[in-house]
Amino acid sequence: MPIRLLSSEVASQIAAGEVIERPASVVKELLENSLDAGARSITITIEEVGKKLIEVVDDGSGIPSAELELAVARHATSKLIRSDELFSISTLGFRGEALASIGSVSRMTITSRVQNEQEGARLRVEGGTASKLTKVGTTVGTTVRVEDLFYNVPARLKFLKSDVTERRAIDVLVTRYALAYPDRRFKLSDGKNIVLQTSGDGDRRTILAALYGVDVAKQMLEIISEEEGSRLTGFISPTSLTRSNRREITFFINGRWVHDVSLSTALLQAYHTLLMVGRYPLTALFLEIPPGEVDVNVHPAKAEVRFRNQDKVFSFVQRSSRKTLLAYSPVPNVAPSLWGTTRTVPSEQPRRAGLDWAIGHDQQLPVSSDQLSVSSDQLSVSSQESSIANRQSEIASIPLLRLIGQIGATYLVAEGPDGLYLVDQHAAHERVLFEKLMAQHAMKNIPSQSLLTPAVVTLPPQSSSLLITQLPLLQHFGFDVEEFGPNTFQVRAMPALFLGSDSSAALRALVEDFEEDESPLQNEIEAKLAARVCKRMAVKAGQALSSEEQRALLHDLEACDSPRTCPHGRPTMIHLSVDMLERQFGRRGAR
Ligand code: ADP
Ligand code: MG
Repeated sequence: MPIRLLSSEVASQIAAGEVIERPASVVKELLENSLDAGARSITITIEEVGKKLIEVVDDGSGIPSAELELAVARHATSKLIRSDELFSISTLGFRGEALASIGSVSRMTITSRVQNEQEGARLRVEGGTASKLTKVGTTVGTTVRVEDLFYNVPARLKFLKSDVTERRAIDVLVTRYALAYPDRRFKLSDGKNIVLQTSGDGDRRTILAALYGVDVAKQMLEIISEEEGSRLTGFISPTSLTRSNRREITFFINGRWVHDVSLSTALLQAYHTLLMVGRYPLTALFLEIPPGEVDVNVHPAKAEVRFRNQDKVFSFVQRSSRKTLLAYSPVPNVAPSLWGTTRTVPSEQPRRAGLDWAIGHDQQLPVSSDQLSVSSDQLSVSSQESSIANRQSEIASIPLLRLIGQIGATYLVAEGPDGLYLVDQHAAHERVLFEKLMAQHAMKNIPSQSLLTPAVVTLPPQSSSLLITQLPLLQHFGFDVEEFGPNTFQVRAMPALFLGSDSSAALRALVEDFEEDESPLQNEIEAKLAARVCKRMAVKAGQALSSEEQRALLHDLEACDSPRTCPHGRPTMIHLSVDMLERQFGRRGAR
């Protein structure tokens, strides 16, 4: 084939692919345009997760009739004139590509009017071809209607994820922007359903409450930090409030939502040793730095940035977050220190006269798991001992244990035929609940019990739309949950097994689980779901138990199929064998 120039239609569809990947990208570009136009109020309506309709109505400056045709042309922008301005961009848009791209892959109608014109104008663009401009009566501002997205590029439609996922991307996007611009009014509706509405009164905490519920919003710690022309504001979660993924870590730089790995790393460093492994904070952080310090022109969808001085920004974020964390919350030490030894002891040092630990659990500990990866010199197990440990782990069950008592309201101490057992009450209870629940599940009979006072839980919009799709599964697990209002649910019944525990915590645990996986296999979902709820429902470390409760827990644990680990694979117990005790006390074989 000879080399030919692509037709402008094909070329613009290719370019559109970079900017407009999915319905949420359309929403993002239109939102950014409205914000750039100084809109005070932005109303977004979607139908069929944006595939049928995305409409954004704003009360911003509008587009003069004479410029409307230009606005939809490629590389037409009112925001950038000279190329040197590219290095100090203060608007969200600057490429002049969005409207052209959207217009080339949908049927788009723009209606707009500026203050000093009597009438507005309307322009329709279908698959990249604009029709004639018409004059219309309308209020000041701009309305963009995008219908039948990707109707002419079916391949793109095929690449979209499930409706739930696409919808969540839109919900997440709009709520993030609402948080970033608390002084503007946002309204997101799905057909007639209002998903999110903010008042524009400038109070970020009320938006947080709409997002995460009042109880979470109350706990979030506020950051206000300034340094050499940079400013970091927003909220971070205290160490007691975490998620199992990084999805709720949000950064805005100069009003633009970005995914910046180095900023997330800086933030996670601030939490270093304060969080359990695999737990992540929730944040909504807004960094303002001089526009010349950051290059936003590195990513087609402008989702990534580059800093002129990366280290400086990194350290600013890390220090500010750490300071806030320490100022608000005392530091619990999650890092292990068994009998006072810490993992920082260099392995070359002469061995300390500490206890050797044979850990009796089913598998090798994953070394990455920080809470447990006590350094090898603390766990040094002589060959003989380790063979004992191995033999023990071959037999998954545990011997009958005699309860001695509880220490630190966290561990049960018990004696077995072969020495001393320290049982982590939380992990053990998790295991017990999990096996009971899964057994009931296998029998297809999970007894459910109505709550005297139903619990009402408010969830972020993206979680609630997800939860709605999973209500039948919850029902199956003995949870009777009903929609109770926008993003609000009522828990009316829960599995009898959990009665007396916090039902709203259970619901939150479940939702978090759905968010983990986009489309897990059904039976995986069920086991994971059960494990997650059991974790939340299990007795906590630091909870004093009566001797009856302690004894019952040991008894239940003995009855489990895999008593040595919790459903997430962590050990439920540490075993100090008689053999090892004798060694340690110098009764047998010198070290
Ligand atoms: P960019 O935002 O990069 O300039 P777009 O294709 O998104 O490019 O928009 C082209 C131009 O159309 C903008 O520069 C702006 O002048 C105008 N425009 C687009 N949307 C709006 C809006 N909602 N209100 C006012 N002007 C708008
Ligand atoms: Mg734009």
